[in-house]
Amino acid sequence: MPRDFSDTIDAIRERVNIVDLVSQYLALKKAGKNYRALCPFHREKTPSFMVSEEKQIFHCFGCGVGGDVFTFLMRYENLTFYNALNELAKRVGLTVPRGYDRGEDQGKRDLLFQINQIAADYLHARLLSEKAGRGAREYLKRRGIRHETIEKYRLGYAPPGWTNMVGHFRTQSVDMKMVQSLGLIVPRKQEGWYDHFRNRVIFPIRDTNGRIVGFGGRALDDATPKYLNSPESLIYKKSQSIYGIEIASREFRQRDCALIVEGYFDLLILHQNGFTNAVAPLGTALTLEQVRIMKRYTRNFVIIFDPDEAGIKAAFRSLDPFMEEEIHPKMIQLPHGHDPDSFVRQAGPEALERAVDGAIPLVEFFLEHTMKQGDSESVEGKVQIARTIRPVLEKIRDPLERRLYAKSLSEKLGVLEEDLLVEPGKEKRARQRVGLGDDQRRLKTTFPASEEALVEVMLNHCDLIPRIFESGAVDAFESEDLRQIAQVLKRAYERKGEVLMGEIIGAVSKEDLRSRVSFWAFSGKFKEEDLERTVQDCIRTVKLSRLKRDRRLITQRIKELEKTDETRRLEELLRQKQHLIEQERNL
Ligand SMILES: [Zn+2]
Repeated sequence: MPRDFSDTIDAIRERVNIVDLVSQYLALKKAGKNYRALCPFHREKTPSFMVSEEKQIFHCFGCGVGGDVFTFLMRYENLTFYNALNELAKRVGLTVPRGYDRGEDQGKRDLLFQINQIAADYLHARLLSEKAGRGAREYLKRRGIRHETIEKYRLGYAPPGWTNMVGHFRTQSVDMKMVQSLGLIVPRKQEGWYDHFRNRVIFPIRDTNGRIVGFGGRALDDATPKYLNSPESLIYKKSQSIYGIEIASREFRQRDCALIVEGYFDLLILHQNGFTNAVAPLGTALTLEQVRIMKRYTRNFVIIFDPDEAGIKAAFRSLDPFMEEEIHPKMIQLPHGHDPDSFVRQAGPEALERAVDGAIPLVEFFLEHTMKQGDSESVEGKVQIARTIRPVLEKIRDPLERRLYAKSLSEKLGVLEEDLLVEPGKEKRARQRVGLGDDQRRLKTTFPASEEALVEVMLNHCDLIPRIFESGAVDAFESEDLRQIAQVLKRAYERKGEVLMGEIIGAVSKEDLRSRVSFWAFSGKFKEEDLERTVQDCIRTVKLSRLKRDRRLITQRIKELEKTDETRRLEELLRQKQHLIEQERNL
């Protein structure tokens, strides 16, 4: 990977401590001279994710992922290298020189954000325009949305008609194909385009950085669907987008609590009333990706969905992604006939505040609700209830908690605890599932052991680098990847007289190789007293297998030539073969 702007990269490495960076996302515990945590990249119960402050790297011994500050941020935040670089630069007050572009989608993404901004400005102006926007403004007022809110969230209005947006973009010097790729305009069968949003109130949807990724639109007439979103694009993934996140994410941290509501209006009304830590998933159920984005800021979630059956179902569906991340959300049950919007407006913010304080665990609510809805008297009813409850209990990671719930339910239901915990015959399968995935992500490539050992030695004992190179072993490597890493090590050592792990990882282009480097850096497999022996043995083995490989090749070539009459070439090869055999003997 070409990592230009090496000054900036070096400066970031000097100023960003990997322990500080990782601590912002994970609870690190000191373990000897390293730090340890539960790996964010695979599921595990005992921590195998290690961070070395000394070497400025991380490595997970469970799934094999590893790297430096850049790699961590790229993986955790799902960023490109360019974005990770920018983000880290921002944190330490550096600016990345302009023109840095890895030729990825970055330029295009920036342009798409700009186009969305142009669209948002246009739609916002339509909403505020004296005549055209009057109906929409009145509607928002009826829904209790204040003017400051319209400004702050840059709400908009897409007028009726088919070509308002199309016409607006024609006056901008923008590639219409790009506008189309965002779904703002739709191509006609013949030629030209028409508007995607028509006669709708528009809600711009932003990412955590406040950039507009897409839009939601509420119909002002009885058009269907009532709510229409932007289609997915390079910058808009519905499952990863959360309405209100750009404001709420800051509040999540401060209040250590996130409120989840169902819709745009619930969110805006809550924000107006000071609950700026509220967000709305786009769609009915929360996704795992959304939970992962939010849990960077807090682990306390309170779900406030409508108290009707649809709202309750949606709340229950969100159990899955939360449990997957070992988060225990709570939920508020509003009085019947209320949604968060109407509740705050009628009962006042204090009442909601109290309700949030008194929220009950969603799992508990689910179990109670299932019992209440089912028939806990008849045998069939009990079976049905147990069937509904079992998969949820199965997902509770904490065994103690799981048993406690099972116990209390078994008493109420009059069944055995075990029958609630495990479906007969399924025990094995359930256990296996947990570990799945770990192995799949482990590194696939295997290297010749002696070559790998030499690289590992050079990584951890850089004073041996010249010696190993002089022996000619590196030239004899079979693995091209390992030779490259060895050369990176040599260059670093020659330049600075030391080997900075972050720098080495940065210079290695393949991701699984980077992970391998961090693994070697942690391993410390070779003890000081065995070092000399190990190096000698490995050099010999590497060179020997190189000679053998060469000899095999020559032998094969000789066989081919024996069928022809190129005697001089043949003699030459036979001489070479003899020479190789002698070299082998002398090793
Ligand atoms: Zn892992």
